[in-house]
Amino acid sequence: MVKCSYCDKPAVYINKVSNIAYCRQHFIEYFEHKARKTIRKYNMIKPGDLILIGVSGGKDSMALLHFLLKLTKKIPRLELTAVLVDEGIRGYREKTVPNLVNYAQKHGVKYIIAGFREYIGASLDEIVEKSFAKNLPYMPCSYCGVFRRYVLNKVAREISATVIATAHNMDDVVQTYLMNLVTNSIDRVVSLGPVRSSNEEFLIKRIKPFYEIPEKETALYALLNGLVQPEFNQCPYVKYNVRFTIRKLVNELEDKYPGSKYGLLGSLLELIRIHSKVKLVDKKFMKCAICGNPSSHLVCRACLFRAQLGLLREEEKSMLEDVLREHPEISRMLYKS
Ligand code: SF4
Ligand code: ZN
Repeated sequence: MVKCSYCDKPAVYINKVSNIAYCRQHFIEYFEHKARKTIRKYNMIKPGDLILIGVSGGKDSMALLHFLLKLTKKIPRLELTAVLVDEGIRGYREKTVPNLVNYAQKHGVKYIIAGFREYIGASLDEIVEKSFAKNLPYMPCSYCGVFRRYVLNKVAREISATVIATAHNMDDVVQTYLMNLVTNSIDRVVSLGPVRSSNEEFLIKRIKPFYEIPEKETALYALLNGLVQPEFNQCPYVKYNVRFTIRKLVNELEDKYPGSKYGLLGSLLELIRIHSKVKLVDKKFMKCAICGNPSSHLVCRACLFRAQLGLLREEEKSMLEDVLREHPEISRMLYKS
């Protein structure tokens, strides 16, 4: 039996990079210390903030909710609301919803369940069917990611949140970094920092408190705190997602050469640092002319998708027509990713 490096209790985790073993209590202390340090280092949260936490009910987001709830005892006037964006994926999302609902009710956390049906006009399953019928070239995960961000921004504006927190961990960040390198999307690479903030009132600060924490540690933190069941639950659309190939590759690399993920994260942070000095790409945010969410174009990707799928409301359709009259070049984007 391997013992904890700090006491005589059995170890539940060994950090292969530092070779330190942790018992349950010392692992939880180590984990929370690391997440608090990230929050301080990147100046993520201040007293008086109203944080909207994106919670899927899975291990990472339940870990974030639990950790931030503990933090409210240390930072004055910090308020939390959890939002679960229900994409409407039959046989998948309904399994994780009770994790959030039970936790929120037990600990008195405010929560909102925001469905694609209500905010977009159709569930993801329906969107995938419509897209197929219209012969549109997009994968389910493209719709899912774009619409999830859209709903998160909408809800944040509805409740006047000052910060949006998401549970992206080091593995998520490194995978997205590599995916964007593969598609030569350097503009997306430089926006993969731990914080996105701006003086623009429509651009709500976004933070990733688990940015420097590997996925196996967030998963273990969730399990040790009894936040999720150790069961396998996979989205039926996962096979269309390139992320899962990249994930496998990165995990193989880490197994062979422990510390590879930290190395990749370090190179990403270095690129972001260089970009902040010499502007590798000129990326500006504006307000979408249809929905008001932040966008890098006059009309955001979510509204373009909604237009293609026939999901714009009547008043939104005439807003889009007005935009197209003044900016006919946007009609090209309507059929281009
Ligand atoms: Fe959404 Fe794709 Fe993830 Fe399923 S696998 S939840 S469709 S991003
Ligand atoms: Zn929009």
